[in-house]
Amino acid sequence: MDAEIISVGTELALGQVTNTNAPLLAQQLATLDITASYQVTVLDDGRQIEAAVETAWHRADLIFVCGGLGPTTDDVTLKSTARALQTTLATDQAHWAWIQQTFRQRQIDLLAENIQQARYLTGGQPLANPVGLALGSWYDHGGKVVVVLPGPPAEFKTMLMRSVLPRLVAKYGQGRRITSRTLNFLGRPESQLMDEIEAATKQFTNVTVTSYVQPSQIQVRINVYDLSKAMAKQLLDAVTAAILTVERPFYFGTGDQCTLAQVVVDQLKRRQQTITGAESLTGGLFQSTICSIPGASNVFAGGFVTYAAWAKEKLIGVDKQVVDQYGVVSSPTAAQMAEKSRQQLNADFGLAFTGVAGPEALEGQPAGTVWLGLAQKGQPVQTKELHLAPYIGRQAIRNLSVQYGLQM
Ligand code: ATP
Ligand code: MG
Repeated sequence: MDAEIISVGTELALGQVTNTNAPLLAQQLATLDITASYQVTVLDDGRQIEAAVETAWHRADLIFVCGGLGPTTDDVTLKSTARALQTTLATDQAHWAWIQQTFRQRQIDLLAENIQQARYLTGGQPLANPVGLALGSWYDHGGKVVVVLPGPPAEFKTMLMRSVLPRLVAKYGQGRRITSRTLNFLGRPESQLMDEIEAATKQFTNVTVTSYVQPSQIQVRINVYDLSKAMAKQLLDAVTAAILTVERPFYFGTGDQCTLAQVVVDQLKRRQQTITGAESLTGGLFQSTICSIPGASNVFAGGFVTYAAWAKEKLIGVDKQVVDQYGVVSSPTAAQMAEKSRQQLNADFGLAFTGVAGPEALEGQPAGTVWLGLAQKGQPVQTKELHLAPYIGRQAIRNLSVQYGLQM
């Protein structure tokens, strides 16, 4: 089934505000097997809105008109939609009384225009708005459904989840039953990862595998369709096993919300171990990332931010001769930063970051050259060199350095 989303707002059309409502709606529709095949954005302009609704009426079965339900003169969505549908506006008297009472209580002057927010499409039903003033509309007519919702994202989302989705399910059914699992990877280019995953999973039927690249990880989502809970789990386990046979070194956890920092903190907590950081190019980002995880205090006591060479010597105790001989961006410097910081805080692990964030080269090394050092109590120090692409920019180089350090 085809749906159309009409986003109303001059600020959206001009790119001043990022449209978050339409993608949220499209995702929710997809779970019901409804595809938002058409998505348009129009100005706060009566004629444009009217034309958009007329066009949508001819090509879609389900039409959403989103935004522009406020009381101000630039909010003309409802009027224009009614005109396109050749209907009028009705007033929900109870809601209008509630608006008047609310304004009195809050001692805000009521405008005559506020009555607009108690209006809905005649022939349809009002949709309650638990977090704002303006009602929405549900208009089911001539084999099509038109839904009108306010623009503010909090109102939009609440009304979508509480009023609209239940109505859509009642009218169109649940859609296919999809069970999903998300696997997270770092350290392999997406195209390569997905080629290998495709080859490893082509034996399975009733399964789709999609990928989503985020700055710090690649999320791979496995979907299986129309299976009981137990059968779905069995199939997801089998597909996961097939994927990990090939991609284990790059895998770090399961779940939509999974991050490397969370995985590291969880593992340290489980083993009752601690970590410290010695950071040059990342300037504290690693430690900040660890601290962003609730419960970090169990595994992290503190660490070092040492940007200049002399600070590495003074605060961590890195040998001046090592820096002079090998340079700041080198394996021996990373190794000393890791081990000496670990010793100073008596931690189980010390993780060090030294490198070139850019844009300028340093010590003859291009931006994106990074040495990571990992010291572990009773073990030889490991170091690892990264060659990140200089064109991704300074912030991305710093962010990725932290992620690769966590992966190590
Ligand atoms: P209001 O009474 O607040 O004017 P409204 O229904 O008229 O309600 P809009 O004027 O369209 O809503 O938008 C209100 C706010 O929500 C604006 O700041 C707008 O930029 C933002 N907004 C509107 N639509 C979207 C959207 N699709 N995605 C993200 N933000 C949006
Ligand atoms: Mg408005």
